Amino acid sequence: MQTIMTAQSSPKIVILGSINMDLVIRCAQLPKPGQTILAQSSMEYCGGKGANQAVAAALAGGSVSIIGAVGNDAFAQRLLLNLRQHDIDCHHVAQRTAVASGLAIISVDAAGQNSIMVVPGANGTMTRDDVLAAKSIIQQCDVLLVQLEIPPDAVLAGIEVAQAAGVRVVLDPAPASGELPPEFLKVDLICPNETEAAELTGQHVASLEDARSAAIALHKLGAKRVAITLGERGTLLSLDPIHSQLIPSFPIDAVDTTAAGDAFAGALVVHWAQTDDLVSAIRFANAAGALAASKHGAQASMADRATIETLMRTTK
Ligand code: ADP
Repeated sequence: MQTIMTAQSSPKIVILGSINMDLVIRCAQLPKPGQTILAQSSMEYCGGKGANQAVAAALAGGSVSIIGAVGNDAFAQRLLLNLRQHDIDCHHVAQRTAVASGLAIISVDAAGQNSIMVVPGANGTMTRDDVLAAKSIIQQCDVLLVQLEIPPDAVLAGIEVAQAAGVRVVLDPAPASGELPPEFLKVDLICPNETEAAELTGQHVASLEDARSAAIALHKLGAKRVAITLGERGTLLSLDPIHSQLIPSFPIDAVDTTAAGDAFAGALVVHWAQTDDLVSAIRFANAAGALAASKHGAQASMADRATIETLMRTTK
């Protein structure tokens, strides 16, 4: 059950989601079909939306557990080690024997254009039963945070367990995947970016007015609270079809916005559980998102609580 916490306490956060290895290959030009090229470099980064958000929540001060799956390859141990190094509880990460870990192959050319292939691997094998096996940690946590990089049935099982126990649920509806069944929208907070808000509503979302209109459409579809992240403009928070407010971003020199949304979601759930104040939680999450956008990388760009609080203190 939810308890209201002070900003110093470490709320229990459960993340249900994907764990991937990201393989980034840099080349002069992306290869055409049938072509073999020599690339310049390859780098491996721990990623996946679930893992990224777990790291963000741990850095923001949460006591974090992740429910997920890895495969039977060499990446699996590295992915688990990385999570454990961030003090994330991995008791409910299944290790599959007949499938590889989730993998994203990201090719980037000299002009910064990319092409990406994501192989869900073990993430795609997550079932309702995997989630039910972790039922007790969901029932005992302060917030369950879910995304859409694992099968919908597994996500829904998590939402159902949490709701039956009175545990708050936050959905980051990423990656964008069209309309969602109403059970997904009826969580306590849904936090799409502009692209995802457009996909969910079938509306064009570019301006702030578009975002307001998309938030109203999401309420009509059943959403209780909506936070649409708007990149450098900040976040539109909508508590009902009539009341919405833009919570402005923090001005920073953006160099790479990869995982800004993951930093935002992880920080948001921690601060919301600590203060029970959603406006203040979004301000904190905006600062976490801005800091992630000010550095290169995904998990490597995420800031800890002290750095987030310093940005908040020093920005007028
Ligand atoms: P996503 O990465 O999912 O597309 P956004 O780009 O909307 O999500 O970023 C999430 C949050 O991070 C934003 O709401 C904002 O607070 C912060 N943020 C992202 N980009 C910038 C930026 N260029 N300057 C300041 N804050 C940013």
